[in-house]
Amino acid sequence: MGRLTEVAPGVLVATSTYAVTTSTVVVGPGGGCLLVDPAVTVADLAALADELAGLGLRPAVAWSTHPHWDHVLWSAGLGEAPRYAAPAAVALLQTERDGMLEQLGQSAPGHDLSLVGRMQPLDAPAIPWDGPEARLIVHDGHAPGHGAVFLPGSGVLLAGDMCSDIEIPLLDTVATDPLGDYRTGVERLASVAGVRLVVPGHGHVGDAAELRRRLDLDRAYLDAVSAGQPYSDPRLTEDSPGWMRQMHESQVRYFKA
Ligand SMILES: [Zn+2]
Repeated sequence: MGRLTEVAPGVLVATSTYAVTTSTVVVGPGGGCLLVDPAVTVADLAALADELAGLGLRPAVAWSTHPHWDHVLWSAGLGEAPRYAAPAAVALLQTERDGMLEQLGQSAPGHDLSLVGRMQPLDAPAIPWDGPEARLIVHDGHAPGHGAVFLPGSGVLLAGDMCSDIEIPLLDTVATDPLGDYRTGVERLASVAGVRLVVPGHGHVGDAAELRRRLDLDRAYLDAVSAGQPYSDPRLTEDSPGWMRQMHESQVRYFKA
């Protein structure tokens, strides 16, 4: 886990060496903080808990952006804050729990499984806490009930597994309308006014211009792949991880079928 870095006043981001995964901390009053997607390895979470303690912070509330194994983690060292996710995400965490724990065991073993994926459903316009306003933008597309968080006070958009500089759009191809869902998600995020920084779940923090660049890349990718046309995406190269190239190939096959 990279050390927590302040990307905007009161917004700290740590980046794991595993899949360039980000964990975000939003500082609230009285030493409480909002913790979004703490990840990934057991060592990462231990380092995060230590660092928070060193800063005099403790999670007051937590949010999981979506029901994939690397976004629903927790450790005893992080305390007992209420942990929330969107209702559709919580529903999937229940039905897909066994498969999710299997993936977790293969990729980041050793977690206390009793703490994995234990979110309460939250159907609200914002995360309930006494810190900076944290608006929720919930949509499907990458996963059911994907919930980005926008902090209007600092202009930071915590985008979950959308708006990445290193990942192509990864669609939920078992959904009824994967393309429509993903496009809706892209446009929901594109319509958020006042974004100054975007923090993707995997990748690097970008400014407003960089967010627009990523959204344009996403639209171009979706247009080309869904139409069966040639594509070129700077995020998909010979050096991309094998799993992402495989996801891309399966998305190409999905739209051909
Ligand atoms: Zn994901």
